[in-house]
Amino acid sequence: MKNFHVAIVGGGVIGSAIAWELSKYKLDVVVFEKGSDVASCTSKANSGVIHSGINSPTGSLKARYCVEGNKILQSLADKLGFQIKWIGKYVIAKNEEEAKELERLKKLGFDNKVPGLEIKDGSEVKIKEPNVSCYTALWVPTAGIISPYEFTIAFAENAVENNVNFLLETEVIDLKKIKDHFLIKTNKGEYQSQLLVNATGLYCRKIDAMLEEPDFQVYPCRGEYLVLDKNYSNLINSMIYPVPPKELGVLGVHITPTIEGNILLGPSAEFIGDPDDKRTTKDMMKTLFNESKEILPALPEKAVINAFSGIRCKLASPGEGGWADYRIEESKNTHGLINLLGIESPGLTGAPAIAKEITRMISKFIELKNKTDFKIRKVKKKSFSEMTAKEQSDLINKDERWGRIVCRCEHITEAEVIEALTNPIGAQTLSSVKYRCRAGMGRCQGGFCSQHIIRIMEKQFNIDVNKINLKSPRSNLFYGRTREKVND
Ligand SMILES: Cc1cc2nc3c(=O)[nH]c(=O)nc-3n(C[C@H](O)[C@H](O)[C@H](O)COP(=O)(O)OP(=O)(O)OC[C@H]3O[C@@H](n4cnc5c(N)ncnc54)[C@H](O)[C@@H]3O)c2cc1C
Repeated sequence: MKNFHVAIVGGGVIGSAIAWELSKYKLDVVVFEKGSDVASCTSKANSGVIHSGINSPTGSLKARYCVEGNKILQSLADKLGFQIKWIGKYVIAKNEEEAKELERLKKLGFDNKVPGLEIKDGSEVKIKEPNVSCYTALWVPTAGIISPYEFTIAFAENAVENNVNFLLETEVIDLKKIKDHFLIKTNKGEYQSQLLVNATGLYCRKIDAMLEEPDFQVYPCRGEYLVLDKNYSNLINSMIYPVPPKELGVLGVHITPTIEGNILLGPSAEFIGDPDDKRTTKDMMKTLFNESKEILPALPEKAVINAFSGIRCKLASPGEGGWADYRIEESKNTHGLINLLGIESPGLTGAPAIAKEITRMISKFIELKNKTDFKIRKVKKKSFSEMTAKEQSDLINKDERWGRIVCRCEHITEAEVIEALTNPIGAQTLSSVKYRCRAGMGRCQGGFCSQHIIRIMEKQFNIDVNKINLKSPRSNLFYGRTREKVND
């Protein structure tokens, strides 16, 4: 049975960031992820905002990791090759009453050491954001945007390049503490580890309950979004946030550009019983659209091309106000168990700082020795569509697959699809291609290119088309044949 120093359960942004930090040391580390890829749960379905730290109470873990994470993200992006755009955000007040809230947020941001905060009047905002209607606004220059899956994938892939084991489609189904190690039972066999890090997001209680009696509850809270076509990207230049609602511990429906050039409207906030209930609903779509149109009157209905939802991992019920701080702690009862509980927003922003904290906690159990051969990831290559005509034709002359456009909306070539399929962590679904090279993310949402990508996957992996999945072992793209295969 394989024995590890550290087992991380969960390959979201938190588990992947921890794996990357630990990959710098001489340790045997494994990540168990039940999905077919990393970022298959909350870490792919959020606003993709790098928060500045103006929303969480001073002294809270949320504020601390957000501010620390925000500061180190640019240097990480330079090393790992993911993109950040520091576009800033306006929190807008519609009237005098709301304007008082902006003063409170500014003071909170100041206490949390967030630089550059300024109150702007409506006419000043209009110069930069001609489509936005407001009375006054708080300008937050240190807020940015990121692709949440590109970010998570960058951590995970570079961790694999530094010998961390990522076991995909591997669900932890039982845990036991036996003397000085954990016995980890998965759907694919048993493993042992000295330390266990519970980074399972919404499922943190389930994992903790395998070892001890949890002293907390999880209250899943769904956030739905609408996605706008890239053709409408010039509606705004920065992120546009409302004054946060007083209840539920959320930030309200905001309008956020994505790193790829779409715009997101959302998220809603609805407490639900089932953490897997990721549906989007007609009623909520209408509400999101109408609330956004109040801020952005020029918003046309035909701009909407898709909807999705992400689920918040809340440790406080709606009756308790919905806000609770993170709990990042060594278990008092199970020696060697480190729990990350309630890692809701700003968890994406805080991930790099949280990973450093977990590494510090691990160093109390195991002496950490630096690897001398730690390899930093090469800086991201330009996509084909960003290249000059000369760069494009040079590549096509070397390999004709660069000349075959597979995704017409995003101009993604066959060579880029193959590169996405040969990723270091071995993710092999249609979604893993989408999240690595954007094929299928355009206006037609894969209507044209999916069939071509499936043919490429069939050839690349030499597998039957019936075995190709959309995003998990349960999401088959095909089921049987409608007629017998005809040999030509
Ligand atoms: C609507 C919404 C908007 C948000 N917006 C932002 C934002 O703009 N900025 C920001 O900073 N933060 C934001 N967040 C918060 C951020 O998305 C989360 O804090 C972060 O993604 C949490 O990451 P995680 O790794 O803890 O959880 P997850 O991404 O959920 O990862 C946990 C992983 O554990 C796996 N897992 C679970 N059980 C098992 C098991 N038994 N065995 C193996 N694997 C298992 C799951 O498959 C999953 O992949 C938002 C969140 C939501 C819901």
